[in-house]
Formats: sequence, structure tokens, C-alpha cells
Amino acid sequence: MGAPRIVRVDPVRPEKDRLAVAVDVLRGGGIVAFPTETVYGLGAPVTRVDALIKIFRVKGRPPDNPLIVHIATWDQLHEVAVVDSDTIERLGEVWPGPVTVVLRRRRVPDVVTAGRDTVAVRMPGHPAALALIELLGEPIAAPSANKAGKPSPTAAQHVVEDLDGDVDLVVDGGETFFGVESTIVDLTGETPTLLRPGPLTVEELERVFGPVKVPDFARGLSEPDAALAPGMKYRHYAPEKPLVIVASDMAAMASALAERGLTPCMYWVGPEEPPHLDKTRVIVLGGDPYEVARNLYNGLRMLDKEDCDIGLFPAIEEKGIGLAIMNRVRKASRGSSVPI
Ligand code: AMP
Ligand code: MG
Repeated sequence: MGAPRIVRVDPVRPEKDRLAVAVDVLRGGGIVAFPTETVYGLGAPVTRVDALIKIFRVKGRPPDNPLIVHIATWDQLHEVAVVDSDTIERLGEVWPGPVTVVLRRRRVPDVVTAGRDTVAVRMPGHPAALALIELLGEPIAAPSANKAGKPSPTAAQHVVEDLDGDVDLVVDGGETFFGVESTIVDLTGETPTLLRPGPLTVEELERVFGPVKVPDFARGLSEPDAALAPGMKYRHYAPEKPLVIVASDMAAMASALAERGLTPCMYWVGPEEPPHLDKTRVIVLGGDPYEVARNLYNGLRMLDKEDCDIGLFPAIEEKGIGLAIMNRVRKASRGSSVPI
């Protein structure tokens, strides 16, 4: 297939006439990649089962990995989920924004929820995503717009690299704001449970929802129970080359690898300039954790493009958005080891 059609929109004041082109594609049964404040999504109207099946097919996504329902209005929330007034009030404090909640499901096709009795819902904060859903007039179900297992797309170009002509239209709103996927919190149990860390931190969640359980798998330390966090069990965000997390001296590790004839790619995090090391390439991610999150997936994609053999990633502090970064990096590095 040829290259997908691309329409550019202003990420802050998206042009309605351009989004109307995307709405036409969606109404015609097509699938559309669009920017959100987290990563690019690949969406179809929540009721268009044929188009939703196509999303699974082009991504190579296992059918037991459910999608997130993206909404623009509170009425749409009531259509897809069972929700009490107390929860709505709390959600009003975090939406629109980068947090997805798991609730009891109402009227949603099985393909969206992977047949579960719960549904994941989010009101995204990106003006183009909100305007697209509003213009369409119904929720858009969407996973991230990448091939299953690969780093999520944080720019329209990444979507084109991964999915090429398999996507009918890409709404290009420039780079996404946060660069990692939404926080997911399950509200169906007694205590809210973090399923995936993201831009909205545990600290911020707890201010709104009270104490939140943070299981080991949410840190990327273990495999989740598939019943609780479907989809999280899959290898994710992973470059082709090995990637290892280095808790000790990065420069020493890079030199040891170079001495053995390997070229490491060293990820650099922090406000200082990276050191100049022999036979080592440097991928600069940024000085503060939000900048690192924004550059993370492009950085993981660069590992496969750079002329190097292995990626070295520094262990960073797991607080705030750092929890989300380390969760992604642990999953991306699963199965990799240092070949010395
Ligand atoms: P993606 O947008 O590609 O990051 O995928 C959405 C993620 O949301 C999936 O990996 C699921 O694990 C999660 N998710 C979607 N629906 C549910 C649900 N009903 N219960 C728990 N997690 C869910
Ligand atoms: Mg994904």
C-alpha cells in the first residue's frame, strides 16, 4: 500500500475543516491516527466493529489486549461505563488529562473490551483529540498507533514508519506533550489500583482518589496477572537491539564494552553535558524527567538507527513521572543482557 494521507493541524487550535476530513474517513469505516497529549492513538468510532478489527490486524495486536475508549463529554462516559456521582466529581479533577480509568462496562462492543466486563476510559487533554471526538459525535476507541511490541509513536513520522499505508489517515499535530502513555488506574475494586504508571503521578492520583495500590508489575518488576492488567504481560516498547539498565557507573560500563570491540549507545539523562568517550555513541534524553519522558520513545527508536550494538540506560529515580519511565524501560529491556 502507498503512504497514508496526512493532514496537519495546529495542536493548540486545531482547524475544524481539517479535522472534518478525518471525521469523513472515520464515518466511512477507515482508521485514523491522531495526536493525544500522551502518544499518538490509532482510532475508530467505538461502535464500528469492522474498523476496530482492522486496528488489531494492522498493529498485530493480540485480541485479548483491550482498547481505551476516548471520550469528549460526560454524557459519553455514561454511555460506555457505570459510574457514580462521587467518581464523576473526582474524575472532574483529572480530566481532560493523561489518566485512564477502568470502570464497569455499559454498552461497548466486545472487541473493545476484549470481552471483559470492565472498560478503560479517558477524556484526553489534547485539543485535536477532543475536537476530533466532538466533531465525530461519539467516542473513539484507540490503542497507541505503533506495531504491537514497539515503542509508542510520539510524532506523526513514527506512525508512518510503523504502519505506513495500513492507516487510512494521520492527523499530524506535531510532537506529543508527555511522550509516555496515560496512567491507568482500576477503580472497580475496593482500593484504586495502579495498572500502568504514566504522566499523572501516583502522588497526584492519591490527592484525588485517596490511597492507591501500586503492585510490583506497575513498576515493571514482575509480570501482571492477565485478569487484572490485560496487555501489560506482552513485551513492549522494545527496540531490536539489546538494552540494559545500568545502576552503576555508566562511563565505566561503556568503556568496558568498547574494549571488547562493541559500540555502546549510552543514554544521557541530566542537566550536565555528556562526557566524550571513545567508541561510544550518546543519545541525549534531557535534563529533567518530563523532558526524558518526552524524548524516551524517539530515543529507543534511535537505538536501532544508530551505528551501535547495545543501549545502556541509566537507572533513574522512581518518583513522579520517573516511575512511568522506569516501567517502560524495564519492559523494553526484558530479555536483554550485557554480552561480556
Ligand atoms: P495502549 O493504548 O496501546 O497503551 O493499550 C491500552 C491498554 O489499556 C492495554 O494495554 C490494556 O492493558 C489497558 N486496558 C484496556 N482496557 C482495560 C480493562 N478493561 N482493564 C484493564 N486494563 C485495560
Ligand atoms: Mg500500546
